[in-house]
Amino acid sequence: MRKLTVALGDRSYPILIGEGVLDRTDAILAALKTPRVAIVTNDVVAPLYLGRLEAALRSVDVACDSVILPDGEAHKNWQTLNTIFDGLLAGHFDRSTTLIALGGGVVGDMAGFAAATYQRGIPFIQIPTTLLSQVDSSVGGKTAINHPLGKNMIGAFHQPRLVLADTSTLTTLPDRELKAGLAEVIKYGLIRDPAFFDWIETNIERLLAREPQALGEAIERSCANKARIVSEDETERGVRALLNLGHTFGHAIEAGMGFGVWLHGEAVAAGMVMAACLSNRLGWLSARQYERTVALIGRTGLPVRGPKLGAARYLELMAHDKKVDAGRLRLVLLRDIGDAEIFADLPAVEIAAAIDACCE
Ligand code: NAD
Ligand code: MG
Repeated sequence: MRKLTVALGDRSYPILIGEGVLDRTDAILAALKTPRVAIVTNDVVAPLYLGRLEAALRSVDVACDSVILPDGEAHKNWQTLNTIFDGLLAGHFDRSTTLIALGGGVVGDMAGFAAATYQRGIPFIQIPTTLLSQVDSSVGGKTAINHPLGKNMIGAFHQPRLVLADTSTLTTLPDRELKAGLAEVIKYGLIRDPAFFDWIETNIERLLAREPQALGEAIERSCANKARIVSEDETERGVRALLNLGHTFGHAIEAGMGFGVWLHGEAVAAGMVMAACLSNRLGWLSARQYERTVALIGRTGLPVRGPKLGAARYLELMAHDKKVDAGRLRLVLLRDIGDAEIFADLPAVEIAAAIDACCE
């Protein structure tokens, strides 16, 4: 088992990573105020892992209820959130009880937001079961639901008490979802960990074959990067924005194609290629490092080219991304592999040229 800590003073918390950590009742017990939990999961994950978690908790005398949500990003909304509150209120959950999110990022974001707001905030634990949620969404305390006018527009910062990333849950994850998670793994290498980028290049086949040791190491190194960034900048006023590499271009792809057509990680993959291409055009990222970036994303089986929406449409959609700051488009670009920086007021013609160069 691997262990990391997110250092946030008295709100610090451990991340445990490894095969079988789902039933680490010692860690769960240490995070609870009282032996009562509500598990929030969905109808895909519940048949796979809910019974195991409930049995483990009951074996150490923790009372548990569960709320099973419908699967999918389309349900990350007020109506579904309310079903969590219905369950908590009907079960007379009070402020000392704990919420456990068991599932991917959708469940984690919704359960986290429910925990942030139920009775003005109750403790919660993240048990992420997708690669994306294990390397990204379960760590850092961003919680949210979607609004019809925008993704993740209603939310709160609320840090979990514990994160349990059980690599054995990834055995049931669809291949496409695994690859989407790898896009965010590669992102950490690109933005500030060149040694990790080298390691991914060497080990990508092992990751695609889901070797537990390789996955454990990739998750640990990803979470170590995310934990350090979150410790430095919890509410995204500075360095945390680097985590948006490829995301503004990716947002345009997701929105332009209709949310759900491209997975987030797929859009981020093509978006990182666009960001790297622009970085190269502006004379920052060398041709050699640009080629390495495209090659690694390609070997993962992720898209290295965006859909042909036209550069003007991309720019229009990018202007609606929530990372736009006071009307100025800010983009994360690369000076080198492992060296990212935020830029504003880049020439639109250059951005458009990079987009055009990276579309089918
Ligand atoms: P997801 O939660 O929709 O999970 C993907 C699919 O895999 C779903 O159908 C899910 O039911 C299924 N699944 C989950 N675990 C499984 C398992 N072990 N075996 C088989 N199937 C499994 O998607 P995701 O990629 O995990 O998360 C995406 C969400 O995360 C988005 O809503 C995004 O906004 C959010 N997010 C949040 C943050 C943050 O910091 N809070 C960061 C990144 C992404
Ligand atoms: Mg992302």
